[in-house]
Amino acid sequence: MNGVEKREPDTGVTETKKEEKKKETMRLEIGSDSRNESFARVVVAVFASRLDPTLEEIDDIKTAVSEAVTNAVVHGYRGGEGSIYIEAAAEGRELTVTVRDSGAGIADVAKAMEPMYTTDCTGERSGMGFAFMEAFMDQVEVWSEPGKGTAVTMKKRIGG
Ligand code: ATP
Ligand code: MG
Repeated sequence: MNGVEKREPDTGVTETKKEEKKKETMRLEIGSDSRNESFARVVVAVFASRLDPTLEEIDDIKTAVSEAVTNAVVHGYRGGEGSIYIEAAAEGRELTVTVRDSGAGIADVAKAMEPMYTTDCTGERSGMGFAFMEAFMDQVEVWSEPGKGTAVTMKKRIGG
């Protein structure tokens, strides 16, 4: 006996399908600091690697996460202190990532999501963050309330 006697009672096809659909999740809380942006994108990329993505898909995910985290740091907390919460879930072939802050919030989400719209007056920003998130992910949904914060939920199907 090799000590591998423990067996599930029914290991038919149905069981295998259930296995594939199992939802796996991760949660991360980081401080609002631009140095944490690269940390966050690497953590999400490593989490996403269980879905066996291509290098291009990994790059897309990293870019989208970077944009969302940068927005939380720059616009949400305006360079001040605060927590950024990142949640990721893998279910079947779908990756879902949510980046949330409890910062300034957005008054008009539809307008903020328009390409080249920015509230930045320093000339440093081009207003393309949301456009990149939408280009690199399959779905982007934004919840926001002024004074309460912003949550960006992005979905991407890995492997076509
Ligand atoms: P870029 O991303 O190209 O550097 P940007 O950040 O201004 O420029 P977007 O990322 O598309 O462009 O965001 C558009 C606008 O939405 C921002 O200028 C800002 O006003 C608002 N915004 C985005 N994310 C947040 C957030 N987390 N909290 C508050 N406002 C936000
Ligand atoms: Mg941005």
